[in-house]
Amino acid sequence: MASSDHGMLRLEGKVAIITGAASGIGEATARLFAAHGATVVIADVQDQLGEAVAASIGLQKASYKHCDVTDEKQMEETVDYTVVKYGRLDIMHSNAGVLGPIEGVMDMDLTQLDKTLAVHVRGTAAAIKHAACAMRASGTRGSIICTASVAARQGSLGPAAYTVSKHAVIGLMHAAVSELGAHGIRINCISPFGVATPLSCLVTGMTPEQVEDVCCEMGVLKGVVLRAGNVAQAALFLASDASEYISGHDLVIDGGVTVVTRHNVQAN
Ligand code: NAD
Repeated sequence: MASSDHGMLRLEGKVAIITGAASGIGEATARLFAAHGATVVIADVQDQLGEAVAASIGLQKASYKHCDVTDEKQMEETVDYTVVKYGRLDIMHSNAGVLGPIEGVMDMDLTQLDKTLAVHVRGTAAAIKHAACAMRASGTRGSIICTASVAARQGSLGPAAYTVSKHAVIGLMHAAVSELGAHGIRINCISPFGVATPLSCLVTGMTPEQVEDVCCEMGVLKGVVLRAGNVAQAALFLASDASEYISGHDLVIDGGVTVVTRHNVQAN
């Protein structure tokens, strides 16, 4: 927990689902949310890793549920499981993601485009739909957070299919904000710049150190390395009551990269 929190538990009593929490940003967020008093459901397709993350957080505060976000039924079951097991749902962090092949539009494999859209768009839509329905049914003024990307704001910051799908994540938030707001439910996005996780390392074939070096070189805020924990802190803010009047916002965690005009840059 950050020392500036002075031991304050910012999510005490809240129940969260985090998709894609077996690894990377989702895992860091699950650990931070639990450290702040939340009970977390780790929803992922990597069963062994997900079980291990839940066990290391502690089974009083975390559990693992297999959930392929592209399958609406599994998302609905994950929300039901959470409400039955813990009695409520306050936070949905739709975070599961894939980078997909590093392709442009002219060499795009449309089957791969469908797969990327399925995880980011279909998966996020299912997460928003079923979390919001559960929150509405219980009268919970919940918080939904969707992980987008700097690639949701500009072209040439990721593969073409990834860029398209992340723009659509922002579009889903825009589509939902008024409807959910009528029930007191907030929805926001977080958009990180490059973080060394399996997503960014495996597809690029780079080590975590190489990914961080490339991102530091491209970044405009020098002297800081963006890590999963920094992204988790942004999610914590949007999940907590500290952001109780913030909805429809895309919180960019990029050290300023996306407000600077650049050409021919590549990152996630
Ligand atoms: P990661 O690979 O460490 O974690 C992604 C997780 O999503 C994995 O545990 C994976 O099993 C899970 N997942 C993939 N497909 C799934 C599915 N169909 N159903 C359920 N779970 C599924 O990567 P990460 O970097 O932590 O990525 C988390 C999110 O952050 C993604 O949405 C990604 O697009 C976004 N993001 C990452 C970066 C970066 O540089 N790492 C930058 C911007 C945005």
